[in-house]
Amino acid sequence: MKELSRITEAFSESVIREMTRICDAAGGYNLSQGFPDFESPELIKQAAIDAINQEKNQYPVTFGEPELREAISKKASWYNNIKCDPETDITVTCGATEAMIATLKAIINPGDEIIVFEPFYENYGPDGILSGAKPRFVSLNPPDWDLDLTGLESAFNMNTKAIIINTPNNPTGKVFSKSELGEIAKLCIKWDVFAITDEIYEHILYDGTKHVSIASLPSMQDRTITINSISKTYSVTGWRVGWAIANKIVTERIRKVHDFLTVGAPTPFQHAAVVAMDFEESYYLDLNDHYNKARSFLFDLLERTGFSPSLPEGSYYIMTDVSSLMEWFSVDNDVAFSRKLIELTGVATVPGSSFYSDPLKGKHQVRFTFCKNWDTLHAVEKALKKLSF
Ligand code: GLN
Repeated sequence: MKELSRITEAFSESVIREMTRICDAAGGYNLSQGFPDFESPELIKQAAIDAINQEKNQYPVTFGEPELREAISKKASWYNNIKCDPETDITVTCGATEAMIATLKAIINPGDEIIVFEPFYENYGPDGILSGAKPRFVSLNPPDWDLDLTGLESAFNMNTKAIIINTPNNPTGKVFSKSELGEIAKLCIKWDVFAITDEIYEHILYDGTKHVSIASLPSMQDRTITINSISKTYSVTGWRVGWAIANKIVTERIRKVHDFLTVGAPTPFQHAAVVAMDFEESYYLDLNDHYNKARSFLFDLLERTGFSPSLPEGSYYIMTDVSSLMEWFSVDNDVAFSRKLIELTGVATVPGSSFYSDPLKGKHQVRFTFCKNWDTLHAVEKALKKLSF
């Protein structure tokens, strides 16, 4: 066999998805991969079924069904304070995952650098490699995940093409404040850099924290690509409907990449997404209420069990230090810790190293998700009692 692609040779398997498989094989409790195990909203399930029965089963308009682009534009206006033209500024993609890689493919040239906050959602690593960008990592430091402005400033240079922001953040739960985003915006303007912002957890916020879209800050709309999806907000991670909002010229390029990569996101689910995006405010309040309670429950449980968790301001993850449990587990790194935790309790997490460029940096951390129903969370409480000492 001839040599396979050198680019993909360096990829490891997605640790998040691997943990799900290990968990399923062990019949455990999946607090690793961030997908809800409760029912998706009835109304949109019915809307998807109706769309199929109405024969909306063929290719969509490649860059998104007009009704959905209209709904995205409306929501971006009321929730994100972003004005965009559905005809020219929106590309509907197969989830935020495709929106990110299509965006990078659309703007990156050899030698370009991208700035990525670390720890980062594991896809951004391979996304950088696939697009040919050279990543520069800027650390967010536990337990508060504060932004180190000096470190950020020194990451910008003439070769910087874009900065990737993820707020609310996976895996840390950090929500970037308006003033932090303002500082990032100043640097983007100074160095003529794109902001690529993944905002899929924008409705999952705690303690009165507000979500701010960097595209809404002065002089930023034209240089920002705002990525989002219905996965987390409407609890339908398997539907694969996401989008990118960008200026007309960037959108033209993203649409071309998207068209040749996937042609389109599933047509019936695009039509169901239109219904989702018209939900009343009470839907979002109920979602937040569940996640608020689940966050407190898991945070208290982890503290009681001997972990040292960081309280998230948004999203549905808790990063925790596990140093104090490692000796008792007879392990010296996060991967061994996660495996042992499944073995002892059936509870699956994601090893911290999968969120860092240098695995050593995540050696003492694991990530739990709490986007689960109460039966699962209570079962986890019972399972973790096995660790009482
Ligand atoms: N975003 C989710 C997580 O971080 C799911 C990732 C995935 O498998 N696509 O767990």
